[in-house]
Amino acid sequence: MNVKYIFRLSFSFLLVMALLAVSYFFSSAGYEAAMAPDSKARPTLILDPGHGGEDGGAVSVTGKKESGINLEIALRCRDLASFLGYSAVMTRESENIDYPPDLTSTRARKVWDQKSRVQLINSASDGLLISIHQNKYTSPGPKGAQVFYNEGAEELAEAVQKSVLRYINDDTKRTARPVSKDIYIMNEVSCPALLVECGFLSNPEEAARLESQEHQKKLALIIIGQVKAFYG
Ligand SMILES: [Zn+2]
Repeated sequence: MNVKYIFRLSFSFLLVMALLAVSYFFSSAGYEAAMAPDSKARPTLILDPGHGGEDGGAVSVTGKKESGINLEIALRCRDLASFLGYSAVMTRESENIDYPPDLTSTRARKVWDQKSRVQLINSASDGLLISIHQNKYTSPGPKGAQVFYNEGAEELAEAVQKSVLRYINDDTKRTARPVSKDIYIMNEVSCPALLVECGFLSNPEEAARLESQEHQKKLALIIIGQVKAFYG
């Protein structure tokens, strides 16, 4: 038995334990009530780490780019979803984006990237989009995750928001909200979509948590755990 194999075995064991824990806390907290009927088909999960390439998004108080944190959390969601048997697709898997060489301005490249993502998302006939972002404010006080949704994703968004409040930000009172009309991807996709603002990079305590593996895993468990509770 080599080290790699042992590592894989212990990783699988940890994942199974985590899933058991997640099923337990969702069922013990009365989340069955939010479960959809068995007839609801499992969607193809499309995980969209916000920003990337030339667009780093917000910058954490520690100097880390939002795009990198989004990617780490989205990859954790993807891995967990795949483990649960969902087909899961990423809109990007690295911090680099291969822009067409004829696009030289940052603006043109960003527009191309946004349109490409919409095209990819809309190419799935049964998609569920989960877009991952981090928030930022001008003062360090505000904190907490908030879930935004488009038409068709309200119920799931509320379930994710409630779990986040219960298991992570239990001293905030944020509610799930319809997404604003100026968020391009969320308004151009034809499938149900959630945008999860995982927390504030301008709050030093929260920024440190968002950059930690433990917290990222917890977020992935909450988001994908609720997808599983909803779609089975
Ligand atoms: Zn963002």
